Amino acid sequence: MLDRKKILDRFLTYVKIDTESDPNSQTTPSTEKQWTLAKRLAKELETIGLKDVSIDENAYVMGTLPSNVDHNVPAIGFISHFDTSPDFTAKNVSPQIVENYDGKDIILNKEKNIILSPNYFEDLLQYKGQTLITTDGTTLLGADDKAGVCEIVSAMEYLVQHPEIKHGPIKVGFTPDEEIGRGAHKFDVKNLELNGPTPWTEVKLESSNTRILMPPVQKLQSMEK
Ligand SMILES: [Zn+2]
Repeated sequence: MLDRKKILDRFLTYVKIDTESDPNSQTTPSTEKQWTLAKRLAKELETIGLKDVSIDENAYVMGTLPSNVDHNVPAIGFISHFDTSPDFTAKNVSPQIVENYDGKDIILNKEKNIILSPNYFEDLLQYKGQTLITTDGTTLLGADDKAGVCEIVSAMEYLVQHPEIKHGPIKVGFTPDEEIGRGAHKFDVKNLELNGPTPWTEVKLESSNTRILMPPVQKLQSMEK
Protein backbone atom coordinates (compact mmCIF):
# COMPACT_ATOMS: atom_id res chain seq x y z
CA MET A 1 0.00 0.00 0.00
CA LEU A 2 1.14 3.51 -0.75
CA ASP A 3 1.79 5.53 2.37
CA ARG A 4 -0.95 8.17 2.16
CA LYS A 5 0.46 10.39 4.88
CA LYS A 6 3.87 10.38 3.31
CA ILE A 7 2.46 11.41 -0.06
CA LEU A 8 0.40 14.16 1.54
CA ASP A 9 3.41 15.48 3.46
CA ARG A 10 5.50 15.38 0.31
CA PHE A 11 2.90 17.36 -1.64
CA LEU A 12 2.49 19.92 1.14
CA THR A 13 6.26 20.39 1.29
CA TYR A 14 6.41 21.08 -2.44
CA VAL A 15 3.55 23.59 -2.51
CA LYS A 16 5.03 25.56 0.37
CA ILE A 17 8.15 26.24 -1.70
CA ASP A 18 7.46 29.28 -3.90
CA THR A 19 8.41 28.50 -7.51
CA GLU A 20 6.48 31.12 -9.45
CA SER A 21 7.94 31.65 -12.92
CA ASP A 22 8.32 35.03 -14.64
CA PRO A 23 7.58 35.60 -18.37
CA ASN A 24 9.57 38.85 -18.33
CA SER A 25 12.79 37.16 -17.32
CA GLN A 26 15.29 35.98 -19.93
CA THR A 27 17.11 33.50 -17.69
CA THR A 28 16.46 29.79 -17.18
CA PRO A 29 15.02 29.16 -14.74
CA SER A 30 13.16 32.43 -15.08
CA THR A 31 13.22 32.94 -11.33
CA GLU A 32 16.06 32.19 -8.95
CA LYS A 33 13.68 30.70 -6.39
CA GLN A 34 12.88 27.71 -8.62
CA TRP A 35 16.33 26.39 -7.77
CA THR A 36 15.19 25.71 -4.21
CA LEU A 37 12.72 23.02 -5.23
CA ALA A 38 14.88 21.79 -8.13
CA LYS A 39 17.80 21.06 -5.79
CA ARG A 40 15.50 19.50 -3.26
CA LEU A 41 14.02 17.20 -5.91
CA ALA A 42 17.46 16.11 -7.09
CA LYS A 43 18.43 15.26 -3.53
CA GLU A 44 15.16 13.44 -2.98
CA LEU A 45 15.57 11.30 -6.12
CA GLU A 46 18.99 10.29 -4.85
CA THR A 47 17.65 9.53 -1.39
CA ILE A 48 14.90 7.25 -2.67
CA GLY A 49 17.49 5.36 -4.70
CA LEU A 50 17.28 6.51 -8.32
CA LYS A 51 20.46 6.34 -10.43
CA ASP A 52 22.17 8.93 -12.66
CA VAL A 53 20.45 11.77 -10.86
CA SER A 54 21.39 15.05 -12.49
CA ILE A 55 20.55 18.71 -12.26
CA ASP A 56 21.81 20.84 -15.14
CA GLU A 57 22.71 24.53 -15.37
CA ASN A 58 19.09 25.38 -16.22
CA ALA A 59 17.63 23.51 -13.21
CA TYR A 60 16.26 20.54 -15.17
CA VAL A 61 16.28 17.52 -12.88
CA MET A 62 16.51 13.96 -14.17
CA GLY A 63 16.93 10.51 -12.75
CA THR A 64 16.74 6.86 -13.72
CA LEU A 65 15.15 3.80 -12.21
CA PRO A 66 17.09 1.00 -13.89
CA SER A 67 15.32 -1.97 -15.38
CA ASN A 68 14.94 -4.96 -13.06
CA VAL A 69 14.34 -7.56 -15.76
CA ASP A 70 17.02 -9.33 -17.79
CA HIS A 71 15.41 -8.99 -21.21
CA ASN A 72 15.33 -5.86 -23.32
CA VAL A 73 12.47 -3.47 -22.53
CA PRO A 74 12.02 0.04 -23.96
CA ALA A 75 12.46 2.90 -21.55
CA ILE A 76 9.49 4.95 -20.42
CA GLY A 77 9.69 8.53 -19.15
CA PHE A 78 7.59 10.60 -16.76
CA ILE A 79 7.87 14.39 -16.92
CA SER A 80 6.37 17.17 -14.87
CA HIS A 81 7.08 20.84 -14.18
CA PHE A 82 7.74 22.37 -10.79
CA ASP A 83 7.15 26.06 -11.51
CA THR A 84 3.77 27.67 -10.81
CA SER A 85 1.77 30.18 -12.83
CA PRO A 86 2.65 33.87 -12.58
CA ASP A 87 -1.09 34.62 -12.82
CA PHE A 88 -1.41 34.55 -9.05
CA THR A 89 0.96 34.62 -6.13
CA ALA A 90 2.45 31.44 -4.66
CA LYS A 91 4.06 33.18 -1.73
CA ASN A 92 3.22 31.82 1.71
CA VAL A 93 0.94 29.05 0.50
CA SER A 94 -1.08 27.84 3.45
CA PRO A 95 -2.71 24.54 2.50
CA GLN A 96 -5.86 23.42 4.26
CA ILE A 97 -7.03 19.86 4.35
CA VAL A 98 -10.71 19.03 4.25
CA GLU A 99 -11.22 15.39 5.21
CA ASN A 100 -14.36 13.59 4.12
CA TYR A 101 -15.81 16.57 2.25
CA ASP A 102 -19.50 16.98 3.04
CA GLY A 103 -20.53 18.74 -0.20
CA LYS A 104 -21.14 22.11 1.49
CA ASP A 105 -19.40 25.46 1.17
CA ILE A 106 -15.76 25.43 2.20
CA ILE A 107 -14.65 28.52 4.06
CA LEU A 108 -11.18 29.22 2.73
CA ASN A 109 -10.72 32.45 4.59
CA LYS A 110 -13.07 33.64 7.30
CA GLU A 111 -11.43 37.05 7.71
CA LYS A 112 -11.58 37.86 4.03
CA ASN A 113 -14.85 36.03 3.47
CA ILE A 114 -13.47 33.78 0.72
CA ILE A 115 -15.65 30.76 0.15
CA LEU A 116 -15.29 27.81 -2.20
CA SER A 117 -18.82 26.83 -3.03
CA PRO A 118 -20.37 24.04 -5.09
CA ASN A 119 -23.03 26.63 -6.05
CA TYR A 120 -20.34 28.20 -8.16
CA PHE A 121 -18.02 25.24 -8.78
CA GLU A 122 -20.45 22.41 -9.36
CA ASP A 123 -17.60 19.94 -9.93
CA LEU A 124 -16.84 20.05 -6.21
CA LEU A 125 -19.77 17.70 -5.63
CA GLN A 126 -17.93 14.95 -7.46
CA TYR A 127 -15.49 14.88 -4.56
CA LYS A 128 -17.97 14.36 -1.75
CA GLY A 129 -16.48 12.01 0.83
CA GLN A 130 -12.95 12.60 -0.37
CA THR A 131 -10.04 14.53 1.06
CA LEU A 132 -9.62 17.97 -0.49
CA ILE A 133 -6.57 20.18 -0.29
CA THR A 134 -7.25 23.88 -0.72
CA THR A 135 -5.43 27.14 -0.10
CA ASP A 136 -6.53 29.84 2.32
CA GLY A 137 -7.92 31.73 -0.67
CA THR A 138 -5.08 34.23 -0.91
CA THR A 139 -2.64 32.26 -3.08
CA LEU A 140 -2.71 29.55 -5.69
CA LEU A 141 -2.00 26.04 -4.47
CA GLY A 142 0.47 24.89 -7.09
CA ALA A 143 -1.11 21.48 -7.64
CA ASP A 144 -0.32 22.29 -11.28
CA ASP A 145 1.94 20.56 -11.43
CA LYS A 146 3.40 19.73 -8.04
CA ALA A 147 0.72 17.06 -7.83
CA GLY A 148 2.38 15.49 -10.87
CA VAL A 149 5.84 15.84 -9.36
CA CYS A 150 4.57 14.23 -6.15
CA GLU A 151 2.91 11.37 -8.05
CA ILE A 152 6.06 10.63 -10.00
CA VAL A 153 8.45 10.78 -7.03
CA SER A 154 6.09 8.65 -4.93
CA ALA A 155 5.65 6.08 -7.70
CA MET A 156 9.43 5.79 -8.13
CA GLU A 157 9.89 5.38 -4.39
CA TYR A 158 7.27 2.64 -4.37
CA LEU A 159 8.93 0.79 -7.24
CA VAL A 160 12.34 1.01 -5.55
CA GLN A 161 10.83 -0.47 -2.40
CA HIS A 162 8.96 -3.18 -4.32
CA PRO A 163 11.45 -4.88 -6.62
CA GLU A 164 8.93 -7.71 -7.08
CA ILE A 165 7.16 -5.34 -9.50
CA LYS A 166 9.00 -5.88 -12.77
CA HIS A 167 9.70 -2.97 -15.11
CA GLY A 168 12.05 -1.68 -17.80
CA PRO A 169 14.17 1.43 -17.43
CA ILE A 170 12.16 4.39 -16.18
CA LYS A 171 13.39 7.96 -16.62
CA VAL A 172 11.95 10.92 -14.77
CA GLY A 173 12.38 14.58 -15.61
CA PHE A 174 11.30 17.76 -13.81
CA THR A 175 11.38 21.11 -15.58
CA PRO A 176 11.21 24.80 -14.66
CA ASP A 177 9.20 27.45 -16.55
CA GLU A 178 6.43 25.38 -18.15
CA GLU A 179 3.84 27.97 -17.13
CA ILE A 180 5.57 30.62 -19.24
CA GLY A 181 5.79 28.30 -22.23
CA ARG A 182 9.47 27.46 -21.94
CA GLY A 183 9.50 24.17 -20.06
CA ALA A 184 10.51 22.10 -23.06
CA HIS A 185 12.97 24.64 -24.52
CA LYS A 186 16.09 23.40 -22.82
CA PHE A 187 14.98 19.87 -22.08
CA ASP A 188 17.94 17.62 -22.71
CA VAL A 189 16.19 14.70 -24.44
CA LYS A 190 19.51 12.93 -25.03
CA ASN A 191 19.99 12.79 -21.28
CA LEU A 192 16.57 11.24 -20.90
CA GLU A 193 17.15 8.49 -23.41
CA LEU A 194 18.58 5.23 -22.21
CA ASN A 195 17.89 2.80 -25.00
CA GLY A 196 19.44 4.79 -27.80
CA PRO A 197 17.62 7.38 -29.89
CA THR A 198 13.90 6.69 -30.05
CA PRO A 199 11.17 8.81 -31.62
CA TRP A 200 9.24 9.40 -28.45
CA THR A 201 5.51 9.94 -28.37
CA GLU A 202 4.17 12.33 -25.82
CA VAL A 203 1.07 11.35 -23.91
CA LYS A 204 -0.52 14.04 -21.81
CA LEU A 205 -2.57 12.79 -18.90
CA GLU A 206 -6.06 14.20 -18.76
CA SER A 207 -6.21 14.83 -15.05
CA SER A 208 -2.93 16.68 -14.71
CA ASN A 209 -0.13 18.21 -16.65
CA THR A 210 2.06 15.20 -16.16
CA ARG A 211 3.51 13.94 -19.41
CA ILE A 212 4.50 10.42 -20.24
CA LEU A 213 6.95 9.70 -23.00
CA MET A 214 6.37 6.44 -24.81
CA PRO A 215 8.38 4.72 -27.50
CA PRO A 216 6.28 4.02 -30.60
CA VAL A 217 3.90 1.08 -30.28
CA GLN A 218 5.57 -0.85 -33.07
CA LYS A 219 8.87 -0.81 -31.27
CA LEU A 220 7.17 -1.89 -28.07
CA GLN A 221 5.67 -4.92 -29.80
CA SER A 222 8.88 -5.92 -31.52
CA MET A 223 10.68 -5.86 -28.23
CA GLU A 224 8.19 -8.06 -26.45
CA LYS A 225 9.54 -11.38 -25.33
ZN1 LIG B 1 1.02 23.19 -15.65
